[in-house]
Amino acid sequence: MEIRKSQGIVLSSRPTGEADRSIRAFTREHGKKSFIFKGLRKSKKRPMAASEPGTVLELVYYFHEGKDFHIVNECAIKKQYTDLRGSLDKMMFMFFMLELVDKTTAPANPVPRLFDMLAAALEVLRDTDKPAHLAAFFALHVLRTEGVITDVRACKQCGRTDMPKFALDFQDFLPLCETCARRFSMNPSLTGSVLNFIKYSAVSKFSAMHLDSVSREDMLDMLFSICMFVERYFNVDLKTKSMVLSKNL
Ligand SMILES: [Zn+2]
Repeated sequence: MEIRKSQGIVLSSRPTGEADRSIRAFTREHGKKSFIFKGLRKSKKRPMAASEPGTVLELVYYFHEGKDFHIVNECAIKKQYTDLRGSLDKMMFMFFMLELVDKTTAPANPVPRLFDMLAAALEVLRDTDKPAHLAAFFALHVLRTEGVITDVRACKQCGRTDMPKFALDFQDFLPLCETCARRFSMNPSLTGSVLNFIKYSAVSKFSAMHLDSVSREDMLDMLFSICMFVERYFNVDLKTKSMVLSKNL
């Protein structure tokens, strides 16, 4: 048994046993791991926020090789996002981003770049008034970091780059121009401004993106394509999908 120290972001959390809480966290040093906080629900010393999704923690824990769960020995809260609770919209996109990382990463596989991206996105989420844009921007970065998507520029069938309307193929996340989309019975509902958003997101910081050029409806439309692609590619079920895609909020 060895004692380890990691920075972690809580991805999900649930009560277990009489007063314990188990969490899945994405750690910077050791990837996705599960932990148990013994007696957290009765503890006065450790706040419950330590186990809340989105919280960034400094964890000290007993590492057992081959064990699924590690017992937390000490923890310190570095960042917490309980203040987002006032905005259902922001909470929803936070849960979406956490689930996206959870469902697209393998256990115990560290990806420090992805950890830093998630930590930065949570900070931006607190201040932005465009959470749907942030979630879409983040999702594109996750897929690029994991090497799943590359160039989304030209129609995959005819090579056309000027696409005022297009569709994204759920199989490979490549675009199809209006004409080709219709030929394959797909709905070319995405607009040219979404295509520009995808292109610029590869080379630009979120703060430098022209967010006003893409409507929230268009962003949600692209998020739908992203969700469909992720579910197929990673063979997962995104629980937050329906929440994020209910456009009536
Ligand atoms: Zn085409």
